[in-house]
Amino acid sequence: MPKIKSSRSRAPPDGFSKIEPTLKKFDEKLKDAQTKALNKTAGKTEGLWEIFQINHAKSRYIYELYYKKNAISKELYNYLLKSRYGDGNLIAKWKKQGYENLCCLKCIQTIENNNGGTCICRVPRSKLEEKAEGSKIKFSQCVNCGCRGCASTD
Ligand SMILES: [Zn+2]
Ligand SMILES: [Zn+2]
Repeated sequence: MPKIKSSRSRAPPDGFSKIEPTLKKFDEKLKDAQTKALNKTAGKTEGLWEIFQINHAKSRYIYELYYKKNAISKELYNYLLKSRYGDGNLIAKWKKQGYENLCCLKCIQTIENNNGGTCICRVPRSKLEEKAEGSKIKFSQCVNCGCRGCASTD
């Protein structure tokens, strides 16, 4: 017997089936990363970084489909965010100047482990070098999500 569809389980908008395989791949990667993090196969922070990075890539994929490639409809874009395929808050930041490459929301939150400001990964390389006065920069990956620098000028 066919299932009765309520308005909640409405079929996804046109075009969803085209991008579904890619979204599924992201979900599989995410599951793997979560299992790894739980089983501590990877180090604790590294495991979490991987999850952040996959979520980032997934949101980026949706962002680019809609804003850069015009490959999906507004209806489908909204559906994807509503269904949590992408992080709407993060995508909203990418639309702002200076935040085009932002890695994750944590890195711009004013929290203790960011020394009360934005994360070091948001500081452009040229500025870091200035501060370091010619000596080698120590920064390679930030503690929040393992970002290697996401300032727009990098
Ligand atoms: Zn970053
Ligand atoms: Zn960071």
